[in-house]
Amino acid sequence: MSIIGKDKQYVAGTYNRFPVEIVSGKGSVVVDSAGKEYIDMGSGIGVTSFGIGDDTWKAAVIAQLDKVQHMSNLYYTEPCAKLAELLCKKTGMKKVFFSNSGAEANECAIKAARKYAAEKKGPEYSTVITLKNSFHGRTLTTLAATGQEHYHELYNPLTPGFVHVENGNIDDLKAAIESNKVAALMIECIQGEGGVIPIDPAYAKAAYELCKENDILLIVDEVQTGNGRTGKLYAYMNYDITPDIVSTAKGLAGGLPIGATLLGEKVENVFGFGDHGSTFGGNPVASAAACSIIERIDEKLLDGVKQKAEYVRTAVSGKPGIEGVTGLGLMIGIKTVKPAADVAKACMEKGVLVLTAKDKVRLLPALNIPQDVLAKAVSVILECCAE
Ligand SMILES: *Cc1c(COP(=O)(O)O)cnc(C)c1O
Repeated sequence: MSIIGKDKQYVAGTYNRFPVEIVSGKGSVVVDSAGKEYIDMGSGIGVTSFGIGDDTWKAAVIAQLDKVQHMSNLYYTEPCAKLAELLCKKTGMKKVFFSNSGAEANECAIKAARKYAAEKKGPEYSTVITLKNSFHGRTLTTLAATGQEHYHELYNPLTPGFVHVENGNIDDLKAAIESNKVAALMIECIQGEGGVIPIDPAYAKAAYELCKENDILLIVDEVQTGNGRTGKLYAYMNYDITPDIVSTAKGLAGGLPIGATLLGEKVENVFGFGDHGSTFGGNPVASAAACSIIERIDEKLLDGVKQKAEYVRTAVSGKPGIEGVTGLGLMIGIKTVKPAADVAKACMEKGVLVLTAKDKVRLLPALNIPQDVLAKAVSVILECCAE
């Protein structure tokens, strides 16, 4: 049986996959089972931050594999401690809880916020406000946090205590704060799955001030926007806000499963022994991989991200078949005249892998994609949008 046939028969049918089997790759180029090459403009949905099989990343992973691949969290290991220090020193956050995915990083953020509020204001202060059209994960609690009804259908009852407000409407947020006992507000600086929609800076600032006044924790979901993606280490750094909690995952370990929840001053000691845990959280190999990624996200790399972002934005703006460009850094949404799915299919046939998000073509290339490879991909995308 072919791999595609086997997958269709035995793997749960949750993914509408393209009819392509990827077998190998290097950098921003992947190869399918027929030997055809593709430029990868999705990087595993913003996961392979430095592309496929990056030499420095691979060396870090292999070096750790040669030492120890896993120990339980009953013992200390170097990569986990080193990664936590790196993340705290680069953000000003105080402590980190490690898990294995974005949803888990958000679960931890929600637990931290509820525990803080329960201890400080009373256990009835459990509501978490999120934005409409947001995406926070697939577990029952992060689905409840996700402000898109269609994800909820047939999975009820979801975890109670979530309220969704209109993105950009400060009065709606004020009303929700007045009519609920609120622990936290959780936002994405750029709604990724929601269609690459950046938050309005004035709204973000006003929401941040409201949270501060009311001792409501501000959680920023940086699962997709984090780790250099927007031209800053974390997307909130593009805005005039300081989150109490930051969750991240996707690109953090460059292609190995990881989740991290960064805890600021207010919540640094909210968790004590036994209050939360994860078997694989802080795994030495994933943590060593993440150290190698975070160490390389310096000003030079971030300048490159901004330059390449500007290049793409300029190259596609106003071109035939393109209605607009959204996003920040190398998190790019292209509103196309043709359905985004049709453009994605045409691009794939011409050797370029792109993502979609709602009505947009979504690009999340590797942060270090070479300029000539990027230019080649952009010319194919332009062609596919125009024809
Ligand atoms: C992908 C994503 C998640 C979920 O991450 P998983 O690793 O799939 O659990 C949560 N929040 C945002 C903003 C995401 O983009």
